[in-house]
Amino acid sequence: MVDTAAAQAPSNAGAFRVVANPSPMPEADREAALADLKFGTQFTDHMAHITWTRDGGWGDYRVEPYGPLTLDPAAAVLHYAQEIFEGLKAYRWADGSVWLFRPAANAERFNRSARRMALPELPVEDFLNSVTSLLAVDNAWVPGVEESSLYLRPFMFASEAFLGVRPAHVIEYLLIASPVGPYFAGGVKPVSIWVAQGFHRAGPGGTGDAKCGGNYAASLLPQQQAYDHGCQQVLFLDARESRYLEELGGMNVFVVRRDGSVETPRLTGTILEGITRASVIQLLEDQNFKVVEKDITADEVVAGVESGDIAEVFACGTAAVVTPVGRLACPDFDVAINGGEAGDVTMRIRKALTDIQYGRADDTYGWMQRVV
Ligand code: PLP
Repeated sequence: MVDTAAAQAPSNAGAFRVVANPSPMPEADREAALADLKFGTQFTDHMAHITWTRDGGWGDYRVEPYGPLTLDPAAAVLHYAQEIFEGLKAYRWADGSVWLFRPAANAERFNRSARRMALPELPVEDFLNSVTSLLAVDNAWVPGVEESSLYLRPFMFASEAFLGVRPAHVIEYLLIASPVGPYFAGGVKPVSIWVAQGFHRAGPGGTGDAKCGGNYAASLLPQQQAYDHGCQQVLFLDARESRYLEELGGMNVFVVRRDGSVETPRLTGTILEGITRASVIQLLEDQNFKVVEKDITADEVVAGVESGDIAEVFACGTAAVVTPVGRLACPDFDVAINGGEAGDVTMRIRKALTDIQYGRADDTYGWMQRVV
């Protein structure tokens, strides 16, 4: 996981010109919106935008009014889903300053996703500049109440109007931002998880370790089944044997044993390499937990929960931070984990991570980068 580029001052490659929104949201309305935060429903006044062409490369760096795009109906993304995205957050500290968490790791992963989807790589400094340039104009949209943040969504897609199946020659990169409260309504409460039946998220050689929209489109039907069974999230098993835990629709998963050891599925190429996952592993190890990245079967988790050998299960990701899992269900089993309550290790690691993100603890790892 690369954080070094974040420490370097971004180059002035691609300075963003600002086209100010002529009618930004009035301050009183913005304050009202920031006092009633949901997830991903409200957007700031501007967005960053860069266009790539095969002949000219990246150009026309701008921060422009947030608003609908004009897209040709033949735009390749609408037909062949050549698209990737990222997710990171800007946090407002108590002193009013605004910080990012490991943004260079997102920029690096964006480029890994780009390579897999035959999209052009975006220089890390352009990615970081897009974030700092947008925050320079929309800083007032970073909320200050507890557990809130400004969720940043960089994405890139094939805009070329062409129906042939090949990598597009015109690509748009955009960054939009959305002030957010907790991902799951009701704050930090254990979530129920449905184990996907007959559906897999990714297979060997597929796009499971890329953050591309198609992965999420394929997860929607099993996610709907999870809702239908009273669960908030779906857990995917491996495509080869349907035995091993992979990840949730939008989070990585950890298992805490009674003896204090912690396990998480190893990176096989079919799961997303979460930045929260890597950070949680580091934090756990530094608190003297033994962390093992390995194959974990659903059967052994259920047996472990039933015998008491497994004390906690939690999920983690940028959006939901660290979230306790209170129940694991499918037609074959339905088990309550830790009596359906949040476990101590889960909440301890959640606190350690959020204390760094919100500036309440020393950032001994150099993970935070100040933007405003
Ligand atoms: N797995 C999937 C499928 C995701 O969409 C995400 C969210 O980005 C994660 C895991 C967690 O990744 P991160 O911690 O980098 O947000």
